[in-house]
Amino acid sequence: MAGGPHDEHDGKREPRGISLSRRGALGAAVGLSALGAQDAAARTTSSVDVVVVGAGFAGLTTARRLRASGHAVVVLEADERVGGRTKQGRIAGEVVDLGGQWVGPTQTRLLALAKELGVATYPQYDAGRNMIDIAGYRAVYKGETPQLTAEAMPEFAEVIGKIEAMAAKIPAAQPWQAADAEQLDAHTVESWLGLNTKHPAVRTMIRLMTRAVFSAEAGQVSLLYFLAYAAAAGSFNALISTRGGAQDALFEGGVWQLAQKMAAELGSAVVLEAPVQSIAQDGTGVTVTTPKGEWRARYIVVTAPPAIASRIQYAPPLPAQRDGLTQRMPLGCVIKVHIAYSRPFWRDQGLSGLVLSDRTEFGPWFDHSPTSGKTGSLVGFFDGAPAQRWADRTVEARRAQVLKDIALYLGDAALTPVEYLEEVWTRSPLNRGGYVSVPGPGVLTAFGPALREPFGRIRWAGTETAEAWVGYIDGAIRSGERAALDLAGQL
Ligand SMILES: Cc1cc2nc3c(=O)[nH]c(=O)nc-3n(C[C@H](O)[C@H](O)[C@H](O)COP(=O)(O)OP(=O)(O)OC[C@H]3O[C@@H](n4cnc5c(N)ncnc54)[C@H](O)[C@@H]3O)c2cc1C
Repeated sequence: MAGGPHDEHDGKREPRGISLSRRGALGAAVGLSALGAQDAAARTTSSVDVVVVGAGFAGLTTARRLRASGHAVVVLEADERVGGRTKQGRIAGEVVDLGGQWVGPTQTRLLALAKELGVATYPQYDAGRNMIDIAGYRAVYKGETPQLTAEAMPEFAEVIGKIEAMAAKIPAAQPWQAADAEQLDAHTVESWLGLNTKHPAVRTMIRLMTRAVFSAEAGQVSLLYFLAYAAAAGSFNALISTRGGAQDALFEGGVWQLAQKMAAELGSAVVLEAPVQSIAQDGTGVTVTTPKGEWRARYIVVTAPPAIASRIQYAPPLPAQRDGLTQRMPLGCVIKVHIAYSRPFWRDQGLSGLVLSDRTEFGPWFDHSPTSGKTGSLVGFFDGAPAQRWADRTVEARRAQVLKDIALYLGDAALTPVEYLEEVWTRSPLNRGGYVSVPGPGVLTAFGPALREPFGRIRWAGTETAEAWVGYIDGAIRSGERAALDLAGQL
């Protein structure tokens, strides 16, 4: 991985380690024809077949695939590290994930990558009883289905059934083509709940589930997007479940390692701290400008989420549809927290550690104790409105709130952790939030087709553009595979 290496060349600083395209330095002369031969040589721009913007799972997958089919690539990453919305953390001597971490059994692309790169998974701990405290009803229960009161349960089952039935009719890759797309996209999850639920506990439960899945409030999420997201995961149940769902398993040592391993394989073709500032297209290729130098390529794949990709300058400017989309896909708000204890004390009481509550700012949280058994630990989130409320406060204030919320359910032992670790994604300028971009009503039907539509020599990838498991690492990998396959046919 290159962390900013440059060669001095005739007094000019020039990026190093980028192999020249098989077609030669195709761009070297482009735009420089007015210069003398000597000047042109001095200003030689590094040339590749494809520039990839972003070294998250989508970008690294794209680059790996293209290189495997014999094409010269460079990955330009704005940050000083690879991984994007996955990131390494360390707490109480254990390496953990500060971003994405779980994998489910139908996330086959991520599982295949982990197998190929030799990283093992282990199941999310779910033995013992879960706790629920919703709309004034507090209980413990076993299994995947949250237990509400006897009066609320039939309506809860009915509402989940309606969601599943609606999601099953949405074409996940083109939700704007659903039969009743405009009607569904005119609603938020909240407005639909208003029409389809009577019991406050059911409404609260779906609100909390929406917040946990999207890091956004039910009133901010388009119903069409919500259903398309479920369709892309196979079902709503797959999104919210631990066993058999998106929270089924974790990676020994963290999923972030997979990004590191892919980047190590790509070597100097990954250039860190190289934010792409502009992409200029002409008849034969693209010129890509970063503070570390200029690259010339035949094609470019942009993997940053739309709201981040909108910060790049495009010449010619983006089509109105694409530009409109980038203005309307904000990322959710999320703060991820790890809390380490000397032991998993909640297990002594037969508890799984999982708590669903509408009385806390922090949550949900899960048992995240290391398989080594040396310590106990919990992992959880401030999501949506609570993340917004807490993002600009001090780490001490957030820590105190987290411990208070956990102690409410797991007891006073929660107040004395060994260590506390957090990542405020919402304040990260390169990510601007997480887990995923969340369009409100009216966006998908009006601007959705621009999500993957190429613009000249620009291809769009990233988990937001995935046709399955949108919003997840698996989706990011799939999007990279799609972009690489598309370009392999053009190059
Ligand atoms: C707290 C949290 C928890 C999550 N939990 C899970 C989970 O358990 N399981 C799961 O599957 N998913 C989870 N996710 C989502 C998952 O992490 C993402 O879906 C996935 O990592 C997205 O990958 P990507 O490559 O599409 O985008 P990103 O990872 O966002 O990569 C885009 C890259 O582009 C770079 N970039 C941006 N602008 C520029 C520029 N101008 N020039 C150069 N580079 C640029 C960024 O720095 C970034 O590295 C979670 C996310 C968060 C934040």
